[in-house]
Amino acid sequence: MPAVSLEFFGSGTSQGVPIIGCECSVCTSLDPKDRRLRASVLIATSSTQVLIDCGPDFRQQMLRTDHARLDAVVLTHEHMDHVAGLDDLRPLIFAQNEPMPLWATDRVEKRLREQFAYAFSTKRYPGAPEFELRRIEPGVEFTIGDQRWIPILGEHGSWPVLGYRIGDIVYLTDVSGMDKEERRKIRGAEVLVVNALRKTPHISHFSLEEAVEFALETEVPNVYFTHISHHMGHHHEVNAELPKGMALAYDGLKLKV
Ligand SMILES: [Zn+2]
Ligand SMILES: [Zn+2]
Ligand SMILES: [Zn+2]
Repeated sequence: MPAVSLEFFGSGTSQGVPIIGCECSVCTSLDPKDRRLRASVLIATSSTQVLIDCGPDFRQQMLRTDHARLDAVVLTHEHMDHVAGLDDLRPLIFAQNEPMPLWATDRVEKRLREQFAYAFSTKRYPGAPEFELRRIEPGVEFTIGDQRWIPILGEHGSWPVLGYRIGDIVYLTDVSGMDKEERRKIRGAEVLVVNALRKTPHISHFSLEEAVEFALETEVPNVYFTHISHHMGHHHEVNAELPKGMALAYDGLKLKV
């Protein structure tokens, strides 16, 4: 597997940070690291660029990078903060002049066909985004360009959610639990990205303490937390309290393995 990079397009939870109308000290912070768009990352090798999740901030996220093409989009699950930007793939679909490959499980595909019925109907109106659905089977590796993808099944409250290992990078979002078999797929990686919502517990997301404990068990040396809420606190303060090798992610952060 060639060198892989991961770029954080967004590191925020479903409402983003700042939250509309919130006057808390995090939402009004002037530190750019306290401003978090919805969770999404770009996985790139020299020849292939793949987006994980396409939330409501996708357009802004794409505009603020120097990327103008994508080879595929891979989804973790169907929640709106991870799929609401799919319509904004249109400029890329038009420029690349081919349907965008969209990787998802059958369950997620079913939801997409309801949520984006106009894009999947047999009589699509002109200008609707055109996707080429590719099925992910949990436990079955797949290839996109020169990238090898290993799905990792997690629990998101009572929903299933997929994380991915691409080379020595593991990306997990919206996870609140994972069985031992799946955790084994993380071992030996160089970088682990895992969600940590806030300091207090939540029914369908790891808290910071749970995420730290999860990360320690994997023994991955470089850990970044994402899908962060304003309740987490200020980036620089929380970051300073974390164990060695662990940090909060922030929008725009790039990692290379
Ligand atoms: Zn989410
Ligand atoms: Zn706030
Ligand atoms: Zn979710």
